[in-house]
Amino acid sequence: MPIDWPTAEKKWQGHWDRAKIGEATVDPSRPKFFIIFAYPGVSGYLHVGHMRGYTYADVIARYKHMKGFNVLFPAGFHASGLHSKAIAAEVARGKKERLDYFRDAGLDQKTIESFKDYTKVLEYFYAVYEKEYWRKFGFLIDWRRICSTLGPGYARFIQWQFKKLRDAEMLVQKPYQAAFCPRDGPVAVDPSETDLKRGGKAEKLEYVALKFAMGKEFLVAATLRPETVYGQTNMWVAPDAEYVRADVDGEKWILSPGAAKSLEFQGHDVKVTGKVSGRELVGKRCKSTMGDRDLLILPAKFVDAAVGTGIVTSVPSDAPYDWQALEDLRRDKKECEEYGLRFDEVKRIAPIHIIKTKGYDDVPAKALCEKAGVKDQSDEKLEALTQELYAATFHSGVMAAGAYSGQKVSDAKEKIKADLLREKRGVVFFGFSEPVVCRCGEDVVIKNIPDQWFIKYSDLDVTQKAKVHSQEMTIIPAEYKEELPRVLDWFEDRPCVRMGSWLGTKFPFDEKWVVEPISDSTLYPMYYIVSLYENAGLVTPDDMTDKFFDYVFLKKGEARNEMWERVAMDFEYWYPLDLNLGGKEHKTVHFPVFIMNHVAVLPGEQWPRGIFVNWWVTGRGGKISKSKGGAEPIPGAIEKFSVDGMRLYYSHIASGSQDIEWDEDVVFNYKAACERIYSLMEQLLEKGRGGHLESSVDQWLVFNVNQRLLRASAAMEGYDLRTAADEVFYGMHRDLQWYKRRGGANRHLIEEALRVWCRMMNPFTPHLAEEAWHSLLGEARLVQMEFWPGLFKTEVSGAVNLREKLVENVLEDVRGIVKIVGKQPRKVSVFTAAAWKWKALEIARKNEWNFSNSVKQASNEIRQHAKEAAPLVKFFVSRTGEYRDAGQFDEFATLAEATEFFSQELGCGFEARREEDSGHEKARKAVPLKPGIQVDF
Ligand SMILES: [Zn+2]
Repeated sequence: MPIDWPTAEKKWQGHWDRAKIGEATVDPSRPKFFIIFAYPGVSGYLHVGHMRGYTYADVIARYKHMKGFNVLFPAGFHASGLHSKAIAAEVARGKKERLDYFRDAGLDQKTIESFKDYTKVLEYFYAVYEKEYWRKFGFLIDWRRICSTLGPGYARFIQWQFKKLRDAEMLVQKPYQAAFCPRDGPVAVDPSETDLKRGGKAEKLEYVALKFAMGKEFLVAATLRPETVYGQTNMWVAPDAEYVRADVDGEKWILSPGAAKSLEFQGHDVKVTGKVSGRELVGKRCKSTMGDRDLLILPAKFVDAAVGTGIVTSVPSDAPYDWQALEDLRRDKKECEEYGLRFDEVKRIAPIHIIKTKGYDDVPAKALCEKAGVKDQSDEKLEALTQELYAATFHSGVMAAGAYSGQKVSDAKEKIKADLLREKRGVVFFGFSEPVVCRCGEDVVIKNIPDQWFIKYSDLDVTQKAKVHSQEMTIIPAEYKEELPRVLDWFEDRPCVRMGSWLGTKFPFDEKWVVEPISDSTLYPMYYIVSLYENAGLVTPDDMTDKFFDYVFLKKGEARNEMWERVAMDFEYWYPLDLNLGGKEHKTVHFPVFIMNHVAVLPGEQWPRGIFVNWWVTGRGGKISKSKGGAEPIPGAIEKFSVDGMRLYYSHIASGSQDIEWDEDVVFNYKAACERIYSLMEQLLEKGRGGHLESSVDQWLVFNVNQRLLRASAAMEGYDLRTAADEVFYGMHRDLQWYKRRGGANRHLIEEALRVWCRMMNPFTPHLAEEAWHSLLGEARLVQMEFWPGLFKTEVSGAVNLREKLVENVLEDVRGIVKIVGKQPRKVSVFTAAAWKWKALEIARKNEWNFSNSVKQASNEIRQHAKEAAPLVKFFVSRTGEYRDAGQFDEFATLAEATEFFSQELGCGFEARREEDSGHEKARKAVPLKPGIQVDF
């Protein structure tokens, strides 16, 4: 009977629950294994991609449990941040997409209404994650320890952590330029674009906003290269853009509206007073920054009004864009006239030599553009040329103009910048390298926060210790282990608190701040030790004083009561964490701070032992989405593909360090693979009868199951789930299929092999394993309570494989002949090589495949066949690859034993004969491993 998945899933999950397998209790007589997956941010429904990493964690937890480890596998919710509040606000606003999102999930109006309260949003999703995802996938999580980052006990824990960081001098306060949405507050600008509509790859840049006097007003242009201030020849504006007039710190400035807003957030006094179009500015004049020249304002297509101040100062000697834009105008009299510009005046604008750069002449931008064949200012080559020239100038350029003439550009740059700022010719201005837009639609700006708190990840001592320790950890994949020291080196001080209505723990030293979500999720595996007691009401949040955490985690001070001692003992037993599993997005954010906080706060023996990084499941050609696939609700996917079908899909489709594209047909194949296995087991058991290891195919099966088991076990030890799953679900299937085809029917052996198979399957497809274990094999205990299998203790050599290979090859050869002839054969005869031919093979082997030595020995020892022996030895020597491992075995007996198999497979008579017993011409041609074959039609 085929498996009824929903029934089997419910049944076995109930059994595991009642057996409390997931409940981890201290047991000093057993080794422990502590594993977590990075708890999810509570941001809405999860998709099938998230289940990949969670499944890996459960597969490993189940395997370790079967290896005799006392396994602790807890889970929790990362609820800090703004997600739930944003959802609540959208429900309250009646935002259609948000209401549809819940309606599509089948929620009634009353429930949706209740989500105006964000705590209801959280409660709802906590339940969905636990009940609809993790429990339905059969995870052996210790549900008693479930906790959230918003619990009162957790807040105490985070406050304690920050006090420890302060004690370790890991907290510093300094000015910070934060990405900031004027509506929502601080947002994260990173490639995941969680908070953003676009601009996740933007860099934060520190410009100097230079002033250019225009009568009583100033045109303001942002530059990254203040040292080029002496080479200004004209200005660029985007003719179709709208600029604003604004009072900035008591002066009248002209700049882009975005820049005006940014300056306000960066601490300037800004009031917008009017508008002015780019076109109105074209043809006007302003003074250069140093006040020594008049500059004409010109139109340019390459200027992006949303970057910098939307106005650009032109230095055609050293900036390829400027050179090319000027060239474009100088070639186009008509365009100049359209803008009311005097063509001869534009033509007179000449670059000014300001920097001598090695390998370039006085106008390097010109030389570069001409050499690269730049067509016009929209040419994509210009970006690379700009980078190239900038790097060359910075490293080898020498100032040829201005106050620092003769000094290296790399030295002069900062001095010139300081002078410009001091002389009030410009101000520091922070902007993005490309436009950044918040999810809410507002442009994200950079806000100056003068007293921001940071965790000092640049600390040399902590960084060094973390780097050394990372190389002692088990880290999957190996490339990430190699990468980690660089990541740790590169990791800068990170702002750890934010102001605003963020959900999270209040900063213990100044409660106007809230600890931000990356910083409150570094030491949390420790909290799973405490949450067991908190959830049981044995330790209350009020009990969780600093002294409590000092005692239970650091063994400092005295226990106030017996409960403190118990928590401390639990911590001592379970810690350190053995494996932290998380997606690749954590490689440069969570994992480094996870290691560094442990190093900063805990003694060396408590530092984590392992990290497992899993890559993503994507839609077809991009992120998972409704149009690209994978976005259906997880419970729906379970109904379609079955839990074990999905678990096997994640485990086998690719190595953990590859992205996989969600493809329904492929997932269905895995469900089908599970069903094929179950049905093969049924068929094998139906046929099986009798006992001892008699036939060669029995021995072959024993040998090969042992080989699979060896390879699967080695792979599991190295967390190579894909290789292990391949051996268990495909290799074992092929072997047992062949065994059955070859007429293998040893009931005792079949049961033994299936018992091994079920146990090997169990970590990956536990429902299938339990179902077969109980319904087919009649076992009473749960397969999860069994040990991972050991080898069959029978002595069987690899020669059994030679024999099966012979049977397979003969079958293939006969089929080849039948195919060519195209008729049903009447009878097949095979002739096995004479004994002296095997003797010749033995001689060749003993002489290490040396031709003349072998022939010499053969002519002595096989005298009657001396003449035929020489070409035969030559044949062996030319095919050492095939014959090297071909030990002696009885070819005739092997084929004769398979007579029934051949007759059945070929549908005709079959006969095996020895060369010695036949005068057939095919018999004379037989050689070891290649019997003569006669097919009669
Ligand atoms: Zn926003």
